[in-house]
Amino acid sequence: MRASELLAPTLRETPAEAEIVSHQLLLRGGFIRKAAAGIYTYLPLGRRVLAKIEQIIREEMDRAGGQEVVLPIIQPAELWQESGRWEVYGEEMFRLQDRHRRQFCLGPTHEEIITALVRSEVTSYKQLPLLLYQIQNKYRDERRPRFGLLRGREFVMKDLYSFDLDQEGLNQSYQKMYQAYSNVFRRCGLDFRPVQADSGAIGGNYSHEFMALAAAGEALLVYCRECDYAANVEIAEARALPKAAAENPAPLKEVATPGQKTVTEICTFLQVTPDKLIKTLFYEADGQLIAALVRGDRELNEVKLQNHLNCRHLVLADPERVMKAAGAPVGFVGPVGLQGIPLYADLEIPYLVNGVAGANREGYHLVNVNPGRDFKTAAVVDIRQVEAGEPCPRCGAPLAQARGIEVGQVFQLGTKYSSVLGAKYTDARGQEHPIVMGCYGIGVSRTMAAIVEQCHDDQGIIWPLSVAPYQVVIIPASLKDDGQREVAEGLYRELAAAGVEVVYDDRDERAGLKFVEADLIGYPLRVTVGKRTVTSGTVDVKWRSRKEETPLPLEGLTAQIQTLLAREMEKYRLRG
Ligand SMILES: [Zn+2]
Repeated sequence: MRASELLAPTLRETPAEAEIVSHQLLLRGGFIRKAAAGIYTYLPLGRRVLAKIEQIIREEMDRAGGQEVVLPIIQPAELWQESGRWEVYGEEMFRLQDRHRRQFCLGPTHEEIITALVRSEVTSYKQLPLLLYQIQNKYRDERRPRFGLLRGREFVMKDLYSFDLDQEGLNQSYQKMYQAYSNVFRRCGLDFRPVQADSGAIGGNYSHEFMALAAAGEALLVYCRECDYAANVEIAEARALPKAAAENPAPLKEVATPGQKTVTEICTFLQVTPDKLIKTLFYEADGQLIAALVRGDRELNEVKLQNHLNCRHLVLADPERVMKAAGAPVGFVGPVGLQGIPLYADLEIPYLVNGVAGANREGYHLVNVNPGRDFKTAAVVDIRQVEAGEPCPRCGAPLAQARGIEVGQVFQLGTKYSSVLGAKYTDARGQEHPIVMGCYGIGVSRTMAAIVEQCHDDQGIIWPLSVAPYQVVIIPASLKDDGQREVAEGLYRELAAAGVEVVYDDRDERAGLKFVEADLIGYPLRVTVGKRTVTSGTVDVKWRSRKEETPLPLEGLTAQIQTLLAREMEKYRLRG
């Protein structure tokens, strides 16, 4: 490709709306443009990167036995009503009506459509297992689309669905996908980690997320350096860390704490450490008022609480409702003497001796609160956020914390959708069973952004060779020099004929500007044709990812460059 013909409009300034590096560099490098909030156009360079990622995914899905299909983007409401998700999805779903006033949505995901397909086409155990996938746009009407390709309203996803006879078959499909995902992200050059995850709105009972480690990531994860335990903090298992009680339970006492509401205020006022405090948080779980108790130095984890309660909606209770139920405003409420409100205590709460809690009377707290003696709980459960430094639940080594971008997720769905939608098969004895399903997603456009988050420097993007829009850029130092131009043209033609993906910067611009733009766009290998090319018959070759520049002779240059590329590409090949 000649740069003079390539539509790659670079920007010198960082657009104000771009908060994170990948968004900034993809805009500045001329890869994407915003069409509306969370909706992007892919320019030629962006499209090429996307296509490379898609191709890697396609190869790995096919290798694992997947068959590619294309499912409709526009889906009838009836199917979603059948599965019960038309209402559940709420405002995130783009809904539309046709001219006959029939309702449709733009697919946010495809479990319904694919289960309906399999229900009508698969009837016998002989047709299973089946792995079907597609690579396609998905639509979610995010309240706050942001971070460019990381949180869009229209985005490219690969979704694969597995259909098996039984749990054993599902385990095998799941393992295959887990391996295929590891292959995909390794080939894309990502530093990633599979972590145990919450299965969220899609449902099901077993799930892993593939996290690209990056400071811009929205997910928080903990992992062990000693064993392979890693989990999203949403579900990371906490351990109770009981210390031997150094004191004996003392009699319960009410003390005046006028105006002292926050953990810090109370601790300072009463001269106690936050781990002595019992934080009492009121929630409405599908409308029912409950209270959750965690130590003052801990954070409550709402995902864990919601999973434990198995409720659909969990929101912090309205302060007025708390006031009515507890007889005191938030800040002075506590577990002692609460009537008719189930108390869910974190694992550490029972170990507290002589703790502090709100007295359920404005301006007062209780000291010497002893769980078990002074109040009874509905359950003692793991509902707090795990923090860095806590022991690994497997081996006890201290956990490390990192932020991650979720680039893939694998779920075991079981029979959740097949039961509701009636996707069944008949076994050898003529008996009917629901098909056992799994679903497996990769955010394709998100992966592109995650790669940029990991692979960049102050000058621009550093694409891994496996996903670069072009592998090589040729820059002549002076186009006006006939000798230089002839060599550059000739090299360009030879490389292109040899199948190398090459851009020849033939624009009538300063060489300095061309170098800056090549670094911004992130072509992996740069070949500079300059004065020395004409005088001593060499060009200068430089990897975008390295500092040093190496002279290479013109003699056999095309073959040399091919060898360099092949060697670099080895990094992204699968081992073993
Ligand atoms: Zn461990």
